[in-house]
Amino acid sequence: MVETRIIDGKGFAEKLRARLAGEVAAFHQETGVTPGLAVVLVGEDPASAVYVRNKGKQTVEAGMASIEHKLPATTAQAELLALIASLNADPGVHGILVQLPLPGHLDAQDVLAAIDPAKDVDGFHVVNAGRLAVGLDALVPCTPLGCVMLLKDQLGSLAGLRAVVVGRSNIVGKPLAQLLLREDCTVTIAHSRTKDLAEECRRADILIGAVGRPEMIRGDWIKPGATVIDVGINRVEKAGGGTKLVGDVAFDEAQGIAGAITPVPGGVGPMTIACLLANTLTAARRQVGV
Ligand code: NDP
Repeated sequence: MVETRIIDGKGFAEKLRARLAGEVAAFHQETGVTPGLAVVLVGEDPASAVYVRNKGKQTVEAGMASIEHKLPATTAQAELLALIASLNADPGVHGILVQLPLPGHLDAQDVLAAIDPAKDVDGFHVVNAGRLAVGLDALVPCTPLGCVMLLKDQLGSLAGLRAVVVGRSNIVGKPLAQLLLREDCTVTIAHSRTKDLAEECRRADILIGAVGRPEMIRGDWIKPGATVIDVGINRVEKAGGGTKLVGDVAFDEAQGIAGAITPVPGGVGPMTIACLLANTLTAARRQVGV
């Protein structure tokens, strides 16, 4: 039986945001430039509205400019593309984020492709995905970046460790696998067609759940001592009524088996916005040339 450490993503993210605020102030003093993050929200998805509000608040707290564009759900593709073109051309905007999901009539891939890769702080543009894949400097998706920061904080060097990433989405699983490869892990990407998923997971020194299925990864899928990063955010019914958030990993079962695990909430989630701010500062530095 091992003692399982709980990885405090919330605390780590707070420290990262405080450090970024200092770096933003120094950058402003040196260049006279305030990094600006433009967030585009189309429609009234309530979860997206909460994310956008939190992003705006934390952007301002870090000393950056927050520019919000809220468009009606009926916005046409051409209108959205025109807005992105104007943000691409705006020197006060260093980062552009289009909140996903978009209403069904809009083509997300086309919209993401219209963002200037230098301002693509979500790291979803094919140019940034390609640069990451071939090992060039890139703006890297925020949630995977946050996961790797937590892992390096826990483990130091990740070189040679066997990592299993469950989930292969373009926003989490695939870029996270690329980042772990960059850290010299031996990486397996598992998905809904993987045979004997439990056995694959049991080989992992680093196990990542990025699936979106409540507590799918059971305690006995975890290698004793493994570091577990739970990206999943799933809202489930509580026994006594109401709802609560759980991850993709059965957190209680992991106690005494995992060496360390991120909780949900309070693990990976808070890292995402902190990394968005880090990417915005990186983008501003590159655009200004310092
Ligand atoms: P997607 O739905 O895009 O991808 C889910 C992945 O899980 C797919 O690759 C799918 O495989 C795989 N999968 C589904 N069912 C199974 C199964 N039974 N066994 C193995 N693999 C399976 O989700 P996202 O990547 O966007 O998000 C994953 C989770 O992370 C969600 O809970 C989401 O809410 C959360 N999330 C959290 C963030 C944060 O800030 N902490 C940010 C982004 C996401 P296949 O490709 O074969 O269909």
